[in-house]
Amino acid sequence: MNVEILRLVASKIGGEVAVKLVSELNKRGRATEDDLAKNTKIKLNELRKTLFTLQKFSIITPEVVQDKGSGWMIFYWRLRKDQLESIIRTQKRKVLGKLKERLEYERNHDFYICVDKRCGGRYTFEEAMEHMFRCPSCGGPMEHYENTQMIRALEDKIAKLQAEIERE
Ligand SMILES: [Zn+2]
Repeated sequence: MNVEILRLVASKIGGEVAVKLVSELNKRGRATEDDLAKNTKIKLNELRKTLFTLQKFSIITPEVVQDKGSGWMIFYWRLRKDQLESIIRTQKRKVLGKLKERLEYERNHDFYICVDKRCGGRYTFEEAMEHMFRCPSCGGPMEHYENTQMIRALEDKIAKLQAEIERE
């Protein structure tokens, strides 16, 4: 399990508290609420709220084990790595789809920019024509924007991500 991605998913779901909790669970395999509270110094009510949220997203799952000595039931939390991996896979596919769309867009359009690079805008041929090839912010002339490098970078990213997805 890639810890960086694990932390990213957790932070999107429950912020810094969730990051601390999943990191702790990732380290320990499973843990009780008391253990988690002790090791993360998160207040119990906040801890429970975040655990509940993580459970709602199926990131963690409860596990009840009977203690052999005392016979008491012990309530643990455990990371659901299968679920996490599937979330990450879905996420990667989404990113791949967006990159491919972007690549198509770059391939199918001609772009124009202001000769003064500080102006920053980039316009399609149609947009540039509407402005008579004059920059809308400074009125200066526009020039053709060469996006070959951007296309190469996108192709590179797509190839890498595709290979990553296929390896899984
Ligand atoms: Zn300009």
